[in-house]
Amino acid sequence: MKILCVVRNYAPHAGEMKAAVPKEPTFFLKPDSALNPKQLPLFYPDFTHDLQHEVEVVVRIDRLGKCIEPQFAHRYYNAVALGIDFTARDLQRDAKAAGLPWLVSKGFDGSAVIGPFVTLEELGRPIDNLDFSLSRNGEVVQQGNTRDMIFAVDQLIALISRFMTLRTGDMIFTGTPAGVGPVAIGDRLEGTLCGRPALTLDIK
Ligand code: MG
Repeated sequence: MKILCVVRNYAPHAGEMKAAVPKEPTFFLKPDSALNPKQLPLFYPDFTHDLQHEVEVVVRIDRLGKCIEPQFAHRYYNAVALGIDFTARDLQRDAKAAGLPWLVSKGFDGSAVIGPFVTLEELGRPIDNLDFSLSRNGEVVQQGNTRDMIFAVDQLIALISRFMTLRTGDMIFTGTPAGVGPVAIGDRLEGTLCGRPALTLDIK
């Protein structure tokens, strides 16, 4: 199983990162050891002083595919979850400055939190109109809707599957809206997807 993540897929987030709005998507991978699918508490890692949340819609691939045409991409997924792409922003900043990969700043244990998957039928909404939000200690810090993605889910699947076979169980973190920010020990993060509680996580 692989965890694919998209870099800067919402223009306001590109703005807050002082980065250009991309013309082509960029992806990175998290290892399967990064996954926290039961929303166990995240212990603040000792290698960072700037742990940040990025709330994202996560799409789960449920069919094997390669070189998938965009118009057929919707056949390759049926369920979504809310996830947090945790980032050691200080390590990422250093890696960016040195032109080095983001692997450890984005791929550490517990950096891929996901809530339970729900089908689009259950949500009653199309993939390109999913509202989601994240609150920190009861205050909303991030809000988004998948309609505002620069690269839509079907486009992402078409593009990445030119290079990598997608397998059942693979997950795609589809990018974060604006409002990323630091977390601290004692914080409680709560997410919603289409108005439903979708994720709760404590930082310890
Ligand atoms: Mg992200």
